[in-house]
Amino acid sequence: MSKFLNTIYNRLSPYTPGEQPQGRQYIKLNTNESPFPPSPLVEVEVTKEIEKLNLYSDPLCKSVIHPLAQAVRMKPENVFVGNGSDEILAFCFQGFCEKGAAFADLTYGFYPVYAQLYGVEAEIIPLQEDFCIHVPDYYAKNKTIFIANPNAPTGLALDLEQLEQILSRNPSSLVVIDEAYVDFGAQSAITLLNRFQNLLVVGTFSKSRSLAGARLGYAVGSQDIIADLNRLKFSFNPYNVNRLTLAAGAASLQDKAYFSSCCKQIINTREFTIESLKKLGFICTNSKANFVFVSHPSCTGEELYHHLRENGILVRWFDLPRIDDYLRITIGTQKDMEALLSVLAIYVQNKE
Ligand SMILES: *Cc1c(COP(=O)(O)O)cnc(C)c1O
Repeated sequence: MSKFLNTIYNRLSPYTPGEQPQGRQYIKLNTNESPFPPSPLVEVEVTKEIEKLNLYSDPLCKSVIHPLAQAVRMKPENVFVGNGSDEILAFCFQGFCEKGAAFADLTYGFYPVYAQLYGVEAEIIPLQEDFCIHVPDYYAKNKTIFIANPNAPTGLALDLEQLEQILSRNPSSLVVIDEAYVDFGAQSAITLLNRFQNLLVVGTFSKSRSLAGARLGYAVGSQDIIADLNRLKFSFNPYNVNRLTLAAGAASLQDKAYFSSCCKQIINTREFTIESLKKLGFICTNSKANFVFVSHPSCTGEELYHHLRENGILVRWFDLPRIDDYLRITIGTQKDMEALLSVLAIYVQNKE
């Protein structure tokens, strides 16, 4: 730390992203990226855009916001896009948390970091023993609620009735539903927007649309909330989404067939992976995401993580209370998962 940093940041503990190895070729199942390249249309449209890189991008992001609004049957005034959904979540902590924020003990690791960054008081609500959310714990909070649905790293999802309960019992508080993984089998809260003015749904092109490296996220909500997000954005960086990313996002939205085929493959491979892991004695949550969350009664999470790494497979292990015997394993291609399963099969059989 230099002597120039504001002292308020001395105690900041930044988010630790999963490894992005540059040397050895790993089967990379550690950061919930898609194993598939983006739609072929993305390359075509991004290439066309290169010659316009001398010009700033559209601060209104119309080429993405309009088709996105149409896809969710809302008006463009109900949609915002950001430099990854992380940027939008950051705006939410910065702009909507005067009375504090509430979120689970085991959830997206950026929530506590943003709370700290923006000096927001955080109420941490423990998940139940089985990692499910106890819905009544979220009633009458009188602060901004953040729920990742499906949750990370557990993969567990609330259904719409449960979300409705939380929304209707917090009429004066904003409820932010982070739907980074919704396309892999959970119900989207977007259909609740016509009934709840206190709902903001946040999503991303990083996982189901294979565009993690492009950085594109979106939010859908009431016109007032979206206007507030624009107020923050235009006070920070009006060109928050760059030209190539806007072209990539618009192309991805056009290719609906490619999108649904990728999601289907991930879902099928996830179900195959869970079934196979259970046969090896693993305990798996009922994941609705593009990852599984698993433990084995005869192995620690740490030993499994290191053993897989030595065999060229990267997964995520969190050295945190409650979940240090679990691994979060991203769903890759069918072939990736078969490689993972054969390494794990030999390892757990040698344990018995
Ligand atoms: C991956 C992820 C995000 C961040 O997505 P970006 O759009 O890449 O910034 C947000 N929330 C959750 C729960 C995630 O897992």
